[in-house]
Amino acid sequence: MTHQKPHLPEKICPVCKRPFAWRKKWRHAWEQVVYCSRDCAGRKRKAPPRSEPVAS
Ligand SMILES: [Zn+2]
Repeated sequence: MTHQKPHLPEKICPVCKRPFAWRKKWRHAWEQVVYCSRDCAGRKRKAPPRSEPVAS
């Protein structure tokens, strides 16, 4: 039986080393997506959390 799901592109997150699959919200920016989540994107820097930008 070869009932395959449509293959979604995957990348490996350089921070948590886990593969993550394409998501709909990235359909326009998949090329630029590097991290699996904002969490990991924020973790790439070792900046101390004292000067976090506050979105107001
Ligand atoms: Zn990650």
